[in-house]
Amino acid sequence: MTGFNEPASTQTALLLLGRGSDAGSERGVDCPGELPAPSDPDLVERARAAKEALGGNVFVLGHHYQRDEVIQFADVTGDSFKLAQQAAARPDAEYIVFCGVHFMAESADILTGDHQRVVLPDMAAGCSMADMATASQVEQCWEDLQRVGVADVTVPVTYMNSTAAIKGFVGREGGIVCTSSNAERALRWAYDQGEKVLFLPDQHLGRNTMVREMGYSLDDCVLYNPHKPNGGLTDDELRNAKIILWKGHCSVHGRFTLACVEEMRRVDPEVNILVHPECTHEVVEAADYVGSTEYIIKALEAAEPGSSWAIGTELNLVRRLANRFPDKKISFLDKTVCYCSTMNRIDLPHLVWALEELVAGRVPNVITVDERTASYAREALDRMLALP
Ligand code: SF4
Repeated sequence: MTGFNEPASTQTALLLLGRGSDAGSERGVDCPGELPAPSDPDLVERARAAKEALGGNVFVLGHHYQRDEVIQFADVTGDSFKLAQQAAARPDAEYIVFCGVHFMAESADILTGDHQRVVLPDMAAGCSMADMATASQVEQCWEDLQRVGVADVTVPVTYMNSTAAIKGFVGREGGIVCTSSNAERALRWAYDQGEKVLFLPDQHLGRNTMVREMGYSLDDCVLYNPHKPNGGLTDDELRNAKIILWKGHCSVHGRFTLACVEEMRRVDPEVNILVHPECTHEVVEAADYVGSTEYIIKALEAAEPGSSWAIGTELNLVRRLANRFPDKKISFLDKTVCYCSTMNRIDLPHLVWALEELVAGRVPNVITVDERTASYAREALDRMLALP
């Protein structure tokens, strides 16, 4: 049996995500009410009692990257898409308490009925990647593509990890949503509809899928920087690219480096390196296995006892998997702690607060997407659901 070696905590361990490193710029507001103290010894009991009082009226969703103290109260755990689907499959639950981040709660609101309300226990739980593509930036990019004459043959594809506004834009322009599990199928569908793809907002998932899964070259990909005129590209570069990748990334998965992989292999030549496709292309190329969060979980479930694994994804999930499979040697690919800090804003005090508000007849932190945006976004999601 091998124990999990917790990486060293550093000052940068809890990255400030959102825009830049300015906490004040992140989405959301302070909790509008009295938040229980984290030291309150009754938090677990309070959460249990509130959940019991709400019964079938509440359905609690917990993302895989969420803290253990919150996950213990989740009715279901999963990645963002699975959780949105689970919410849609519970029409009897009046309240969906989403322990994830803002864009996930938006997707749940889009897919659930009008009688259901989606609650995000902390409105500051945003996502740095989703925030890297705003609606006005993407409209500007589309205008650039129209000006150089390629918008008509370009199909927009957005990763699930994007705001409802971006999903709405993609639906309006005949595009599709994808997840890290079906990005290849979504891209093949897009190339059946047009000649080029605008891929939002994660450059790494787009590049890794095109090159690793579909056999394109890095030269087929260009990177559109929304902070530069024309995305920092020439008109010919926009015209000739097979895929236009948005300059966005995940601040958590972006931390894994080639040096991490080399160090792991030096220390343990038998190690299997397993990473998420949101990691950089060089890390993905150096890994043994690449796949979504659900793929990572299944790979470790199927792994031989005694086998050695270094995992490149969020630390809460890696630690939980290491505890679940003590007969396998599971370590974290980075040497330092790296949580998704915005996801981690949803802690037990916020969950208790949200549940107790519901018990008191108040519905806090409701996430709503306007009907026009939701309707276009649903089109893009439905195209994904119809993928073969
Ligand atoms: S892990 Fe990355 S993509 Fe996922 S919610 Fe956190 S910042 Fe966003």
